[in-house]
Amino acid sequence: MGYYTYSNSANPEFFDARTKHGHGKSQMVLSNLDTDTCRSLQFSLQSLFCCSKLVEYFFIAAGYLAFQGSPIMWATIHRAHHRYVDSDLDPHSPQYGFLDAYIGWIARKNYPAHIAPGAQSKDLINDPIYGFLEQKGNIRRGHELSYAINILFRIILFACFGWVPALASLLAGMMVLQIPLMLNVLCHIPRLGYKNYAGIDDSVNVWFVGFLALGEGWHNNHHAFPGSARTGIRFFEFDLSWLTIYAMAKIGLVSKVKAITNDQLLQHRKQPNLCDASVREQ
Ligand SMILES: [Zn+2]
Ligand SMILES: [Zn+2]
Repeated sequence: MGYYTYSNSANPEFFDARTKHGHGKSQMVLSNLDTDTCRSLQFSLQSLFCCSKLVEYFFIAAGYLAFQGSPIMWATIHRAHHRYVDSDLDPHSPQYGFLDAYIGWIARKNYPAHIAPGAQSKDLINDPIYGFLEQKGNIRRGHELSYAINILFRIILFACFGWVPALASLLAGMMVLQIPLMLNVLCHIPRLGYKNYAGIDDSVNVWFVGFLALGEGWHNNHHAFPGSARTGIRFFEFDLSWLTIYAMAKIGLVSKVKAITNDQLLQHRKQPNLCDASVREQ
């Protein structure tokens, strides 16, 4: 059972993983599910559910093929975002510049001094595939490798299936990348959304990001319960990622799923400033 504290400094090592591949629309949905569905996968020190390496790689590949770069980089930055949310140490808080929050953080050559995969992603750095994609912490080289593999993948698609699937896959990957980049900015601008849970950060639920990101746009819920595989809470907060994880659990692809319970939801809505949450297995 995970135990999470909703504060700037004490959030858990945590991550939203990212997902797999395909053509055109199917890749778009699947890659977006990565960005969200495997909003945790094995990328948490206290993972939100258990799954095989095969399932994990499947979802990670979708994110990678949507130009999201090194999985270790993405995990490390995302964990730092939760740890330092909306402070000056947050790697992408819009409080310190919209452009930097949108694209600047991912374009840096190296990690900021307070962020290091060796310290914050110890659970990932020994994976040989993730280690290779990480390129020894050189973010720029990691991106160059990512672009090369992404282009090679579309060339293979072109050779096997023709230009329509290849171009559709390329455009889908580029569009999917925009969703988490956009989310990082829009879901931390209080006037654009609403909060179910009061807290000390600026995170809000933004309805159209909620739908586009297949769940994580209910971002205030996500920051309040980062240890939960379920992010949609109210009846209109559609959470396809949670439904996917739930369905995968039903057919045995994942197990030991951690998700907030109705009791916990009610308790926290009554005591909105009690910003901690224990998350149970379901
Ligand atoms: Zn997160
Ligand atoms: Zn956030």
